[in-house]
Amino acid sequence: MASARAIYLADWVLPIVRPPFRRGGIVVEGERIAAVGGEAELRAQFPDALVRDFGEAALLPGLVNAHAHLELTVLRGMLEDLPFVTWLATLTRLREGLSAEELRESARAGIIEAIRSGQTTIADVGATTAGFEALCESGARGVFFHEVFGVRPEEAEENLRGLAQRVAALRARSDAGSRVRVGVSPHAPYSVSAPLFRRTVEYARANGLPLCVHIAESHAEVELVRRGQGEFARIYERRGLAWRAPQVSPIRYLYDLGVLAARPLLIHGVHVDEEDIGLIAQSGSTIAHCPKSNAKLGQGIAPLPEWLRAGIAVGVGTDSVASNNACDLLEEARFALLLQRAHRASPTLLKAETMLTLLTLGGARALGVQAHIGTLEPGKAADFIAIALAGAHVQPADDPAAALIFSARGSDVCFTAVGGRVLFDGQSVTTLDEERVRARLREIRARLRSLLARALG
Ligand SMILES: [Zn+2]
Repeated sequence: MASARAIYLADWVLPIVRPPFRRGGIVVEGERIAAVGGEAELRAQFPDALVRDFGEAALLPGLVNAHAHLELTVLRGMLEDLPFVTWLATLTRLREGLSAEELRESARAGIIEAIRSGQTTIADVGATTAGFEALCESGARGVFFHEVFGVRPEEAEENLRGLAQRVAALRARSDAGSRVRVGVSPHAPYSVSAPLFRRTVEYARANGLPLCVHIAESHAEVELVRRGQGEFARIYERRGLAWRAPQVSPIRYLYDLGVLAARPLLIHGVHVDEEDIGLIAQSGSTIAHCPKSNAKLGQGIAPLPEWLRAGIAVGVGTDSVASNNACDLLEEARFALLLQRAHRASPTLLKAETMLTLLTLGGARALGVQAHIGTLEPGKAADFIAIALAGAHVQPADDPAAALIFSARGSDVCFTAVGGRVLFDGQSVTTLDEERVRARLREIRARLRSLLARALG
């Protein structure tokens, strides 16, 4: 923005902290929101400001994606109809076959999709730093969680040293006030030894780093942790790894290891009982809900209503497009709501407003950044989007929350700004060369196809 002050108007404004209202907007000064109100009031108060009017559209806070794997975007549609453990093993093999440059292009393609569908903050998890690079280049806000893996307890120190070195290098490039924060992620109970969990948590707490972990996602994981059986147990056996099942739920296992005390972002949490939900709530841990990924991989339905009732901060995540296959939070929220209503035969469970809150303020709370983003309020960062309500699939639209959650799609987003900077103007993402990324993605995909054919052949 050339001007230091601009008014953005639309037919509907959804500040999230208060009910939607007609014909109004926000005033942006530099990187922040200076005012929120009706059109006449804003024009009178800021007569010299530039005005951009989106017309038949909804203006709302940018969407927060609580869980993504941007580096895996090139794998979209490549791992269909596979059992969970085979899916994971194939995905890992393909990722390891990609160069650092290829993973970066893949992550760029992911962030383009995210920005185009109105995501302004992304909690990205990566085995490499590709997602971090893409977030930094794109102008989006985010937390990049660097993954650590290691199932051999005797290698925990070495695993952690490697992680600490990579994280230190990233932090040197992202100072405290920066848009992209760095965190760590001990991957999951079946890929991280107990000592590595403990050491990673100590390291995260000592350095004030956010933490996330994939937990209670699959039946195979529950089998391994509760009974020391199932597919993961058989893989351990084949690799000659000793495993004494803790014989508790995955959430209780994290609690016993001291992981919950660090208030992590828990990814999935599908297989949790009442006691687990109590542990999550009491510890102040938060949840990234990824219902489409869980459903597509046949792993179950997470108890979203129970989490909300327990007061847990929940954000919605798309997970990777290798298991979704879309990075579209409107679709994710719609699916989450419909799934719960179908599952429990309740036409009143959850509301469109509730889902919009989860997509914005809920995600911000899950990431612990609700003081800065997640609502349209004076003083908060100017992270906002406009979503067109003019489409035939949305009209007529006189209940904006219902229109957005039940009818609209990510492709209806016509404007995305982060910290007052325009990242998507309705035509293209302003910070990346979309054509070049798309062309490169096709080349990488062709190479991956032959890699996959060799792996399977
Ligand atoms: Zn994930």
